[in-house]
Amino acid sequence: MSDAPFVEVSAARKEYAKSGTKIAVFENLDFSMEKGAFVALMGPSGSGKSTLLHAIGGLERLTSGTISIDGRSIAGESEARLSRWRAETVGFIFQFYNLMPMLNAAGNIELPLLLLSLGAKERRRRVEEAADLVGIAHRLRHRPREMSGGEQQRVAIARAIVSEPPLLLCDEPTGDLDRETSREVLEILQSLCRDLGKTILMVTHDPSAAEFADRTFTLDKGQLDLAGMAA
Ligand code: ADP
Ligand code: MG
Repeated sequence: MSDAPFVEVSAARKEYAKSGTKIAVFENLDFSMEKGAFVALMGPSGSGKSTLLHAIGGLERLTSGTISIDGRSIAGESEARLSRWRAETVGFIFQFYNLMPMLNAAGNIELPLLLLSLGAKERRRRVEEAADLVGIAHRLRHRPREMSGGEQQRVAIARAIVSEPPLLLCDEPTGDLDRETSREVLEILQSLCRDLGKTILMVTHDPSAAEFADRTFTLDKGQLDLAGMAA
């Protein structure tokens, strides 16, 4: 079991209906990641990167094929079991942070913990620990609109890791940040991988962001290839 990849996608097919016709975003797609890997996923807009990321995170179902995470198949799970599994297993980080505007940073970071049965004191401890790890502990009382983009993304990363999920799925996490701030965010992701052993899949269109990952795949016309290698 320990030799099996942490993320394993086999014969994945995803189709959407477009004006009555079924269009496959990808089909027969295989993809795997070892535990503790940091993988970048590139490819043109509309190639299905977000679709694949959402499927791996159990936010969207495949049309056919299988996905297993840490040896557990998620395809046939009920919504209730899937959302519980997500809460324990996956942290999501998005381009536009997706913070709740009326909550301060601490309230935003705490949100995933409300799905677990933890006391207020333990929740506060975990929020402070996560905030510390991403260097945002000094902003806990600030609301999103009072923070820069880089600070908001740090809050979003703290929220993603606060329930200690092994897998982080990031969709263009530096897409709205300047170069220097992007570098800071990417270094945080790198250290979460190196120091905490997180497995990270990051969609990006920026080759210099992809360089922070161990490996880069490109998705184009339904084909997934290791970047820099002939297909
Ligand atoms: P990327 O993230 O690489 O830009 P997406 O995964 O968002 O690409 O989308 C891949 C393709 O699937 C696009 O053609 C998009 O229009 C289509 N698509 C994505 N989500 C839906 C949906 N909910 N309904 C219909 N088509 C969708
Ligand atoms: Mg996308």
